[in-house]
Amino acid sequence: MTNRRQFLLAAGLLSLLPPVFAANRRVVIVGGGWGGLAAASQLRQLVPELEVTLVDRQPAFMSFALSNRWLVEAGAAPWARHDYAGLAKKHGYRFVQGDVTEVAIAQRNVVTTHGVLPYDWLVLAPGIRENWSAWQVEDPQAIAELRRRHSGVMQSAADLPALKQRLANFKGGDLLMTIPPAPFRCPPAPYERALFIAWWLKTQKIPGKLVIIDPNPMMPAFRNILLDRYKDQVTYLDHAKVRSVDLVRQSVSTDIDDIRFDEALLCPPQQAADVLWQSGLIRPEEGGKPSGWAAQGATDFRSAADGRVFVIGDAAGLVSPQFGYFPKTGQVASRMGQAVARQIAAQAAGKPQTPLLPESVCHVTSSIEPLENIRIDTSYRDRGDGFLIQTVKQTRNPNPAGEDAAWAAAMYREFL
Ligand SMILES: Cc1cc2nc3c(=O)[nH]c(=O)nc-3n(C[C@H](O)[C@H](O)[C@H](O)COP(=O)(O)OP(=O)(O)OC[C@H]3O[C@@H](n4cnc5c(N)ncnc54)[C@H](O)[C@@H]3O)c2cc1C
Repeated sequence: MTNRRQFLLAAGLLSLLPPVFAANRRVVIVGGGWGGLAAASQLRQLVPELEVTLVDRQPAFMSFALSNRWLVEAGAAPWARHDYAGLAKKHGYRFVQGDVTEVAIAQRNVVTTHGVLPYDWLVLAPGIRENWSAWQVEDPQAIAELRRRHSGVMQSAADLPALKQRLANFKGGDLLMTIPPAPFRCPPAPYERALFIAWWLKTQKIPGKLVIIDPNPMMPAFRNILLDRYKDQVTYLDHAKVRSVDLVRQSVSTDIDDIRFDEALLCPPQQAADVLWQSGLIRPEEGGKPSGWAAQGATDFRSAADGRVFVIGDAAGLVSPQFGYFPKTGQVASRMGQAVARQIAAQAAGKPQTPLLPESVCHVTSSIEPLENIRIDTSYRDRGDGFLIQTVKQTRNPNPAGEDAAWAAAMYREFL
């Protein structure tokens, strides 16, 4: 087999499986984030006769969108949360609160802390995990303590209120922020967060310095503003990589130096969530090493292990030799959820279904005073020979008038 054919097969751009038309009707969705909720509500609209069960360890959906300003703005609106019980009742699916500990692909069931759920189709939308072992922290207790005291909170939005409180308690000194190596969720988010923190230090006259350790090239839109307008608040360490972290000494080691901190927002490298590793659904790289992200089709999101298992959202792995991964954004996750709902609906009805490609719109604050936003549009088309073409368009918006909040409200209306 040629390399190209191998890649196409692995990326799901060639059909591996004949269509399977089901007599049975159970769909289990693991993860009630942007991807899982979009799949659940869309399935209920398209095929009300299907029995849809959503499993999440949390009791409620919480969102990262628009959280960066909220973290440092006094008197901001209370943190929005939407209980899964209420959403399940509204849309007509079942909600099970529990941890999924294993997916038995051969038996077609999901093992949860509240029992075993058999499925006919499975949608895995569990988001990410943080790879602390890349920083030489292996002990689960040490990881729990690091997360409690210094998490950069990029994994679960449920932890944002604790981060807001930690920032409110910060009265000065070195505030360290690490940025994960790409790919990571919402690529502009850490830079926007850094901008809000620098602005807050300056305007609140907090005698603190934001030290940013970044292994990636900084997004150009943020470079000038962080390094010029906030030069007294920001120290930026370009292309620097964290090697290890020492909680007792409150320091991290990088290639160049050890850096001490008084408070830190630690964001280790990201990977697909645990359940995908436990279920053997991680894509191997050349040479057999795990890539860190799931193996699923680029356009149908079906697992190579079983065509009735879909992997969507931030957990999804490589889709293109040109651009790598879909951006790990809420809108991409939600569009993938809608796309798999359509495929399941079509398969349940015995009809063919053309894949629906994702898209993403991202409104990012690039200046606070005066306010300026950037809109990032990412779209895809099939080149005609199985490869995807990605188009990214950035538009400056010097007079924002709530487009970001309007975008979030429109997205939430689709699945909340
Ligand atoms: C600071 C920040 C700002 C962002 N801003 C934006 C933005 O403005 N716009 C945008 O589009 N995106 C934004 N994003 C990205 C967005 O949050 C993610 O892309 C999105 O959450 C991905 O959705 P998902 O469904 O894949 O995963 P998640 O939303 O993470 O959902 C996964 C769910 O699975 C559950 N789960 C995981 N494992 C298990 C298990 N074993 N058992 C039970 N439940 C489990 C989790 O509890 C969680 O509820 C931002 C991200 C960050 C960090």
